[in-house]
Amino acid sequence: MKAAVLVRQNSALELYDVEVPKLEVGQVLVSVEYSGICGKQIDEITGRQGDDKHIPHLLGHEGGGEVVEIGPGVTKVKPGDRVVMHWVKGSGIDSRPPRFSYRGQVLSAGWVTTFSDYTIASENRLTPMQADAPGDALALLGCAVTTGLGIVFHNARLLPGQSIAVFGVGGVGLNVVQGADLVNAYPIVALDRSDAKLEFARRFGATHTVNVDKVEPRAALAELSAEQGFDAVVDTTGINTVREIAYQWTRQKAGITILCGVPFAADRLSIDSFPLHMGRRIIGSHGGDTVPDIDIPRYFELYRLGKLRLDELITNRFRLSEINEAVDALRTGQICGRCLIEMEA
Ligand SMILES: [Zn+2]
Repeated sequence: MKAAVLVRQNSALELYDVEVPKLEVGQVLVSVEYSGICGKQIDEITGRQGDDKHIPHLLGHEGGGEVVEIGPGVTKVKPGDRVVMHWVKGSGIDSRPPRFSYRGQVLSAGWVTTFSDYTIASENRLTPMQADAPGDALALLGCAVTTGLGIVFHNARLLPGQSIAVFGVGGVGLNVVQGADLVNAYPIVALDRSDAKLEFARRFGATHTVNVDKVEPRAALAELSAEQGFDAVVDTTGINTVREIAYQWTRQKAGITILCGVPFAADRLSIDSFPLHMGRRIIGSHGGDTVPDIDIPRYFELYRLGKLRLDELITNRFRLSEINEAVDALRTGQICGRCLIEMEA
């Protein structure tokens, strides 16, 4: 199989022909059609959370494709099944991660990796889908869409008419906006540094947008919430000062701050914790608490009904051979919606 390998932090991924080992218990060989690329992979490449003991390793945690072969014990999927590959655990066997090799050393890989034309995934990282499901839409259901919607439905439990503010409208943030729109939240405030991204967020339901480089975000949030704070404030940036502002502008007695962005390893939050005694909450979201086996088919049905916009999210497509261009485009903020990696036949 052809795979993009992280051989060094802060350097280009290397395309390498990896030998596919014999499948072990609970492992599934999947032909990857599309992979998403998200901030988490950029963080792994740039070492946002410090040294990486697993290098060299494979990357990517959301994909769409088709099952080729199943290992011993696998019952959830069979060869020919269309599948979503996701990093959140679902039902099924939690297999050992596959053991690949790279130039005579161990090539690490998680229970699912998707920057490759084939991959070995653990049974519980796969959700079987209907036969005609398009691979690009499936790839979106592996992380960004499920995390964004899960933050609204599972973490915030946002009700019609409640307010929400979202810092960062990249892949996850856009889907927080889209989820808030699905439940008729109001207002839905998007904050970002890019006018283009903010404009794009309006298409998915943002009712107000704030460019934080032009407008002081605290003042904007004070005005838009009539000094009350928001029922939910979501941070997708992981930037410390942003996380503190998000907490500060969460509604006093019943609001929730949801942290989703990956923090820098050395950062520590400084917040006034007293409001937590009065009912305000702050949590870190784990993939929107998505339950893959239930949520992914449910979201796909919403897509099929035309209520969930997935095709419109895809603004950029790169081939696997262009993976480093995709990484650069995402890292430098050039991607408005979602970027997909297409595997060559
Ligand atoms: Zn992701």
